[in-house]
Amino acid sequence: MARQEFETKVENYGVQRNRILMFGINVGQVIKGHINEITKQEQELSEQRMKICRQCPLFTDSMGGICDSKKCYNTETNELSTYPKQGSICGCHCRLQAKTTLKNAKCVLNKW
Ligand code: SF4
Repeated sequence: MARQEFETKVENYGVQRNRILMFGINVGQVIKGHINEITKQEQELSEQRMKICRQCPLFTDSMGGICDSKKCYNTETNELSTYPKQGSICGCHCRLQAKTTLKNAKCVLNKW
């Protein structure tokens, strides 16, 4: 195997490994958020964040409130679209009743 081919494989392995690790971290956070929701942990934090979310253009009132991935918003132009456009950010598609209970979770628009 040529050196460059070997280095490319090692680099690709690193990228794949990082993706798998990030997927594991995200799944763990999703599970923790749903456990928090069911066991009513971090309710005050969640309600503060939910008040912000309910006013947000990416919010959709379904399943208790989701950050809608079918909506994209440009914070500079205030343009709302149904597909990603340059400069826009789309919803993360999280169920907000769960996500808002996670202390280290972040809003995709940096509103909380
Ligand atoms: S998480 Fe952020 S972007 Fe998503 S609905 Fe809530 S305030 Fe909006």
